[in-house]
Amino acid sequence: MTTPVYIEIAVPTPLRQGFTYALAAVSGELDFGEPESGEGTPLPGTPLPGTPLPGTRFYIQFGRQKLVGIMLGTVPAPDLPGHKIRAVIRQLDSAPLFPASIVTLCRWAADYYHHPVGEVFSSALPRLLRDGQALETSERILTLGENPAAIQRAPRQAALQLLLQDNPAGLTLPQLTAAGFNTGTIKALVERGNASWSNRTIKFTDFSPGASVTHQPEIQLNEEQALVVASINQGPTGTWLLDGITGSGKTEVYFRTIETVLEKGKQALVLVPEIGLTPQTVNRFRARFNLPIVVLHSGLSDRERLDGFRAASNGSAAIIIGTRSAIFTPMKNPGLIVIDEEHDASFKQQEGFRYSARDLAVMRGHLESIPVILGSATPSLETYQNVAAGKYRRLALTERAGGALPAKYQVIGIRNEVLQDGFSARLIKLISQHLSSNSQVLVFLNRRGFSPALLCHECGWLAECRRCDARLTYHHTLRALLCHHCGIQDPVPSRCPTCQSSQLVPLGAGTQRIEGALEQLFPDHSIIRIDRDTTRKKGAFNDIMEQLGDQQPAILVGTQLLAKGHHLPNVTLVAIVDMDSGFYSADFKATERMGQLLLQVGGRAGREQKPGTVALQTHFPDQPILRTLIHEGYRVFAEQLLTERRVNDLPPFAHHTLLRADSSNKADAMKFLAELQQQLKPAANVSVLGPVPANMERRGDRFRAQLLFSASNRRDLHYTIEACLQLIDHNPPRRHIRWSLDVDPIDLF
Ligand code: ADP
Ligand code: ZN
Ligand code: ZN
Repeated sequence: MTTPVYIEIAVPTPLRQGFTYALAAVSGELDFGEPESGEGTPLPGTPLPGTPLPGTRFYIQFGRQKLVGIMLGTVPAPDLPGHKIRAVIRQLDSAPLFPASIVTLCRWAADYYHHPVGEVFSSALPRLLRDGQALETSERILTLGENPAAIQRAPRQAALQLLLQDNPAGLTLPQLTAAGFNTGTIKALVERGNASWSNRTIKFTDFSPGASVTHQPEIQLNEEQALVVASINQGPTGTWLLDGITGSGKTEVYFRTIETVLEKGKQALVLVPEIGLTPQTVNRFRARFNLPIVVLHSGLSDRERLDGFRAASNGSAAIIIGTRSAIFTPMKNPGLIVIDEEHDASFKQQEGFRYSARDLAVMRGHLESIPVILGSATPSLETYQNVAAGKYRRLALTERAGGALPAKYQVIGIRNEVLQDGFSARLIKLISQHLSSNSQVLVFLNRRGFSPALLCHECGWLAECRRCDARLTYHHTLRALLCHHCGIQDPVPSRCPTCQSSQLVPLGAGTQRIEGALEQLFPDHSIIRIDRDTTRKKGAFNDIMEQLGDQQPAILVGTQLLAKGHHLPNVTLVAIVDMDSGFYSADFKATERMGQLLLQVGGRAGREQKPGTVALQTHFPDQPILRTLIHEGYRVFAEQLLTERRVNDLPPFAHHTLLRADSSNKADAMKFLAELQQQLKPAANVSVLGPVPANMERRGDRFRAQLLFSASNRRDLHYTIEACLQLIDHNPPRRHIRWSLDVDPIDLF
């Protein structure tokens, strides 16, 4: 009798704990289950003798369900008596899917974000692996049987037998077909017992750096870049902030540091924002590197996702480029992690398991002892604070590479100005100047649709969503009213529902309206709109980008989709139609975001030999923080904001966790949170604020409320949140109340 070995398994359930299972059944035999095919090979993978390692998948019975779980570790002395512990049904992997570092990362994340560990592992896995499919791929091969009898009177079978004799490693069906054998012949030979089919695991090999990992770089690094590259390549591991203005050649720095890593046979993981992962980005990497690159994004099929995961984890891919969730992709030989545009909000998952891929990258770098580069022209305040605290090291690129001139900012005050569809006379003049000097112009407005409201001219009625506390946006092309919060779509009424007037007027401007106005103003130029409505179709965005490559003067109208690092060499003017929402928002991060957006959009202008201008319309041209941003730059701007945050005890100086709840009636979400708050005994310096109704209380017919936890000390905060979750566990809310927890929320509403 062998002693049963107990293991802890992360099971995909909402329970915040692992579960103990027995590896060995009472008989002492490991049960690897029945093979699924009749070929006599256990699937998937062949179990190894000895205790499996953390990161290995198991098929288990959980309650009445059969689920796929991941082993977290062994349990030397289980709490339960042995006969109460279930045995696993089957081991699914012969080797762990995740290396120890990723297992630790996921466990750390489950703890830090107070999220069920099984769900954390689930989100780290491609769907097919979550469903129990094999990671290893195998192929069916035909091999010669033992002591095959000689064949008479069947020349094709004899020929096949000869071929198999010459190929002792076996041949696949496609290979056999290519050699001219049909299935009838093969079948006959197998039935005779002279050959048999079996499964063979396809072996992958690590990519090989070979003679040159890159196609020759044509670019010579400038002094700043050379210094930065040397610091990272020769420096200690740890987290680097690459603080480089737009156009300063950060990508070139990524390339050089990746190159160094690849030459040592190690892999690089590059994370980019959701809308930054374009074929343009990927092509830049492919043009540079002579090695296999894997791209992971939301548009992939399940199969492609699995293939990418496999290539990264078996070491055959040299570079892995992906969006947020790629942070969990295992690498066989990890060498470097790059987070491009580290300030970007898309690195934070906003639903379910609300993790920050940027913060996890820093932790992963630490666990794998590899450098992490956080690159941005507009670093987040948290990252600056981590530099100030000595946790990250900052490297700066202060000049535009390739000698392009920095953009000039021009503030256009529009108080008391008559605007033509949102445009002041000065801005119209500026646009026509740039067009007539054969340049392209980018007009930026962070609002899709035709207009953000539909108003009755006679009684003041405003079209509002039936399900949200929000106005409906008028979409001219659809002739419909859309809610941008819950997605409902209503026909445009021909008369006001309150006073029957037919005088319904669109109020304010969205991208569609701006587009229409520009068509009137500049009938001889092409106007191209880029927002979620025009780029929904796959490839649409890139078609537009190609259209622009021809350098004809044109006007682009767009939302923040345009703010990302697309290379538009012929744009010399960026016009920001409305700047004001960034100054007066209830969200304390609004000003930081406004500054980032302004510089990112501004970074699109004048990237090559033509200097760029950024024109911004505002009712508050003398806003001190705007002046700081324009005249003294992002770093001083950020320092001022940090001072404000410190004084007001806001992140990054305090740590936030938000408990959100919503219910189908108005009272219950608030009541649930209020009761929790009363029962809770927070740690000494943790403040619990609220509950308050969310800014937009009703959304999609759910009423939303929130409780904000704030503390200067993470441990105290952690302890309080844990206590709060235990209260919820002991006394769960009624079914129609939903709740969720958001650690380090980037959005307080
Ligand atoms: P960033 O990512 O910092 O915005 P990029 O890496 O896109 O900047 O570089 C901007 C432009 O400058 C690109 O066209 C790039 O090829 C060019 N560039 C980068 N480094 C150099 C260099 N050392 N000399 C000349 N051109 C460079
Ligand atoms: Zn009316
Ligand atoms: Zn709505």
